[in-house]
Amino acid sequence: MAEQLWAPWRLEYIKRADEEAGCIFCRAAAADDEDGLVVHRGAHAFVLLNKFPYSSGHVMVASYRHVGDFAELTNDEALEIHRLAERGMAALAEVYGPQGYNLGWNLGRIAGAGIVDHVHLHVVPRWAGDTNFMPVLGDVKVIPEHLAETRRRLAEAWPS
Ligand SMILES: [Zn+2]
Repeated sequence: MAEQLWAPWRLEYIKRADEEAGCIFCRAAAADDEDGLVVHRGAHAFVLLNKFPYSSGHVMVASYRHVGDFAELTNDEALEIHRLAERGMAALAEVYGPQGYNLGWNLGRIAGAGIVDHVHLHVVPRWAGDTNFMPVLGDVKVIPEHLAETRRRLAEAWPS
């Protein structure tokens, strides 16, 4: 078994998720790319950075449609989410060269989902030794600038 990533700020995020107004995915889809941290937009689904990443380059793929039930994704949405994850990994490979990936759906709050009513696929790049990501990153407050730069680099590296 792979070692769990240690990302304690995620707990704070999950605690706060209920208090934030609206849905972060719907807000990001409606915002411009920089504000929404959107890396790429497809026809039915889009790719955005996670503001509370498990590791550098942690992206999420979500349908534009606000759907909370995994089984309610249409064929077009399910296929495009899969393909966008694949292309996101290609962009991540070019920019960051990770050694592996965790892809996953957190369905339900108990499974770690911060947002439970808009399903999304996590794509988490992994490196040997990255379970020490938090100590290496140090201060969570550095993340916003880091995210803007990461978004720009991944958008530029997106395979055409
Ligand atoms: Zn939504």
